[in-house]
Formats: sequence, C-alpha cells, structure tokens
Amino acid sequence: MATINSNFLKLKAGYLFPEIARRVRVYTEENPDKAARIIRCGIGDVTEPLPAAVVKAMHEGVEEMADRATFKGYGPEQGYEFLRQAIVDNQFADLGISADEVFISDGSKCDTGNILDIFGKGNVIAITDPVYPVYVDTNVMAGNTGDADEKGAYEGLLYLPCNAANNFVADVPAEKADIIYLCFPNNPTGAVATRAQLEAWVKYAKENDAIILFDAAYEAFIQDPAIPRSIFEIEGARDVALEFRSFSKNGGFTGVRCGYIVIPKTVTAKADDGTRVPLHQLWSRRHSTKFNGASYPVQKAAAAVFSPEGKQQVSALIEHYMGNAKLLREAAAAAGLPVFGGENAPYVWVGCPAGLTSWDMFDKMLGEAQVVITPGSGFGSAGEGYFRISAFNSRANVEEVCRRLKALVA
Ligand SMILES: *Cc1c(COP(=O)(O)O)cnc(C)c1O
Repeated sequence: MATINSNFLKLKAGYLFPEIARRVRVYTEENPDKAARIIRCGIGDVTEPLPAAVVKAMHEGVEEMADRATFKGYGPEQGYEFLRQAIVDNQFADLGISADEVFISDGSKCDTGNILDIFGKGNVIAITDPVYPVYVDTNVMAGNTGDADEKGAYEGLLYLPCNAANNFVADVPAEKADIIYLCFPNNPTGAVATRAQLEAWVKYAKENDAIILFDAAYEAFIQDPAIPRSIFEIEGARDVALEFRSFSKNGGFTGVRCGYIVIPKTVTAKADDGTRVPLHQLWSRRHSTKFNGASYPVQKAAAAVFSPEGKQQVSALIEHYMGNAKLLREAAAAAGLPVFGGENAPYVWVGCPAGLTSWDMFDKMLGEAQVVITPGSGFGSAGEGYFRISAFNSRANVEEVCRRLKALVA
C-alpha cells in the first residue's frame, strides 16, 4: 500500500491568495457593474515589461539554440560561469564570494523550499511573524512542525514577532534556534534591517551554532546607502549564512524564472556523528542530482541585467516602483493611517483603522473602493490589524488607488 507524506495534511486549507481570489469573485458576481473598477494591489508580482537589454539577450540566446554551431544542450547544473561571474562581480565584489559559491536556479521560491533537503531533523526553526508563507509551509511539508493551532501557528516553530514596537525587525530571541529565516527588505512589511541589527543576528548565529537563511529578493529596492544589501557585508556572516537572490523583482523575471543561492564554502553544520560538513558540498550534490540547470536563453537574459544598458533599465524600473511606493505611503498617511515600509521596498504596510481586522479592511477596500489589498493576518497572527499594498503597478493605477484611499478613510 502506498502511503502519503501526512505532513501535507497539517497545512491550513484556506491559503491566503486563494481566499483573496474567492472574495473578489464573490464581489464581482454580486456587483457586476463594479467589476471593471477593480484595481489589484494584492499579489506581489511585477507589472512592467522586461528591460530591453534582457529581451535582446534572450532573443540572441534563442538564435544560438537555432544553429548547430552554437546549439547548447544540458549546461552545468550550477549555472553557466558567465552568469555566476557576472553576479559576483556586480553584487558581491569585495565581499569575498567566489563564482563557485553561486548556484543558479529557476527561482528563489524553489530554493528557499528545497534548501531543507540538506538539513537534518530536530532543528529549531525560527521564523518571523508576519512572514513570507513559503518558509512556514515548506517546513510543515518537511515534517519540522506539529499541527497548527486555531490562530494558524505551528507547534515546534519559534515565532519571532515583528510589530510597530520593534519597527518590524525581529530581535534576537532568548531561546536557542538552529535555523533562522530572515528576509530584508521584507515581504510583507517592507522593513529593512540596519547593519547593527544584522550584526546582532550574525553574533547570535555564531554563539548558537545556527545558520541564517537570508532572503535578499528585494535588495535592489534599497535606497538608503547605510542599509546592507547582503548579509555578507556583515563580518563573520561567511561562516553562518546563506543568501537567496532572484531576478524576479529587479529584472521583472517573475514569468521568466531565474534565481540563485550564495553558499560560502566556509558555512558548515554538524552531521549525526558530530563531524562538521560544508553546506556547499551538500547543496552541490543536491542541486546536481535533482536539478538540470536553468535554461540557456534565460541565463543569457539574466546576465544582461548586469550590462550597462541593463543596469540603467533596471534602475528605471526600480525608480518607477519606488515612485509608486512613495505615493501610496503619502496617501495612506493622508488618510490618517499608520504607515510602515515602502521606503526601501516595494511594499507599504499600513495599520487598519481602529476597530477593523485585516480581513474587515480587505472587505472595506474591496466593497467601497474596489481596491484589492493583502490582509496582514494572512502572513501570520502578528500581521493582524495591518494590510499590505503592493507598489507593483502602473502609475495611473497607483494614482487612482491613492485618490480612492484618501476618499475612503478620510
Ligand atoms: C518574490 C520573492 C522571492 C522570489 O521568488 P522567485 O521564485 O525567484 O520568483 C523570494 N522571496 C520573497 C520573500 C519574495 O517575495
């Protein structure tokens, strides 16, 4: 008899985005006249087309595949050297990272989930609350948790509450954790960690022999030069941290698919017999066994993000989205709501009007303004009382959202 991985049955049925889609569907069925007015600021997906330099490089890659002389079959599982080197030169120059410490993949969501393959059972997993749901659900699937309670918190996870009091940056806990997920700039709160805060985390990881899984998917949106863009800017991080990056949010690759993990060879963890094993060695084996490389035209396209034209075009995209974020911040503040994030991240995190839960506010925004936002409670119980507005949109849509937001609450 075949059995299943019963851990999947612990996952909560009502996942955030399906529930949002359901409510929008019900609303449009009941209010067909309003359907055309709906503006979606919910899911964190880019809206602007790929940079021209990326499109050109992808076309060239396809042309090479069309010619026997330049055709390419399977590439290196770890990714083409030209892309790994471009990443190191452009993003990790002076941080002591070498090209063979970079592993190219088809996106960061898969990487943040798949990384659990190389860790043992019984690790104490620390997760911020609110959080990108992928970290939680992949740990549930891997059997690293018990069941969820009525608030949706899983037994066995160490939740690190993020709130207005700590400016949505988790403090190091009194408890001992073995694996810590950190995401800065943060999805969903838009918070960034200062150098001192990241130093405290690296120190904690060293003291507790823990590993930091650092998700820097939104690094390109950092405007403040004092905010570290990589965990490897922190001394000692090369011994205790991995970093996840993606071309999804800077290059608009959400539908193209390319990401990478940086694993310094100096990061080790304990085997059952107590010997220390480099995580690089394990991930290298895992990646080449279960993955056959990202597609060649896509890797060519990703490398074009670092060309002079590509850099300029990506900067223009970031400027566009951050201009949106500024307008959204101002509108929410003008409506008298507490506003966080949106200064170094494409997400604005807003406190609900007094007395309204996150889902109340979702229904109010949809019903009265026809704007779809993301309820904060969907990212964890500490997100209750907040909502996320995504700055990934056209300028015209954002301006209209701002008008409606001000009219709504004021
Ligand atoms: C968008 C996002 C990513 C990147 O995901 P891809 O699979 O590379 O598209 C990673 N982490 C977070 C928190 C994100 O929001």
